[in-house]
Amino acid sequence: EAKRRDRPQTVRYQAELDRRVQGRLQMVARLHEAIEREEFELHFQPQYFASGREPVGLEALVRWRHPERGLVPPGEFIPVCEDSGLIVPLGRWVLREAARHHRLLVEAGWQGLTIAVNVSAIQFRSGELEADVGALVQEFSLPPGVLELELTESIVMDDPEAAIAVLERLRQFGVMLSIDDFGTGYSSMAYLHRLPVDKLKIDRSFIADVEEDSHNAAICESVLSLARSFGLKVIAEGVETRAQMDWLRQRGCDEVQGFLLARPMPFADVLRHLGHPPR
Ligand code: C2E
Ligand code: MG
Ligand code: MG
Ligand code: MG
Repeated sequence: EAKRRDRPQTVRYQAELDRRVQGRLQMVARLHEAIEREEFELHFQPQYFASGREPVGLEALVRWRHPERGLVPPGEFIPVCEDSGLIVPLGRWVLREAARHHRLLVEAGWQGLTIAVNVSAIQFRSGELEADVGALVQEFSLPPGVLELELTESIVMDDPEAAIAVLERLRQFGVMLSIDDFGTGYSSMAYLHRLPVDKLKIDRSFIADVEEDSHNAAICESVLSLARSFGLKVIAEGVETRAQMDWLRQRGCDEVQGFLLARPMPFADVLRHLGHPPR
């Protein structure tokens, strides 16, 4: 009796599972093509000194220009790229595009700006990042301090020693390193004093209502004091209000990024947004 009732449900469950696996496989195949056809594009979000007036650099954020669906945000395809290994060729493309746009920035008179690129932990552990970055720095003659890699705490997870060695070699190329979404992931606290990084990026979940939410304020204050004692810079992401920006500046946060200052935008809009370069 119970069995007879279960059957159709099992069948339905199996069908649902098949459909999902199929969908996933199709997406992987489609992403493969998208990389070959270069259907991706970079948008850039300006990062500012804490005063909010002078730009420090740009964060490159990838989007998929899907022929039918339009602009697809990274949250919808980066995880699939990570699971399938496609993040390695995609990440390589992103790095190259970032370097190419740095050249365009210099041509427009903005030589001082940094370009930050997000690097997935899978890409970091692929063993190819170092060689890719080294080749890029050479090909584009990137001056030290221009290219910044945004990494997550999870890179140190399974083999901290190996990760530290890679970070050290990356820095020898003149690459700056920051820890993205700091405070949300696996805690690298125990390794922080040994991690050769330049900057901590406070996750935007801690910036929300920071001037009123005492829990978030405490977290931000500890990140700021941690950074101070390790000689690291701090950037806050997701700054949406003047009150948040003032709060952060008053407590020694070095840089800010968020919708208050600028949204991610195509490169042409960045140049318009920045206005006249400094002379
Ligand atoms: P992330 O690196 O932490 O980037 C910040 C995200 O927050 C971006 O979303 C940005 O548009 C958004 N954001 C910036 N300011 C504000 C704000 O004031 N308020 C709010 N609500 N959001 C803000 P996006 O572009 O959708 O990217 C999401 C995530 O996808 C990134 O988080 C990053 O982890 C990943 N990602 C983006 N591009 C790449 C890439 O080229 N490679 C890799 N591996 N990951 C990428
Ligand atoms: Mg980032
Ligand atoms: Mg972030
Ligand atoms: Mg984030």
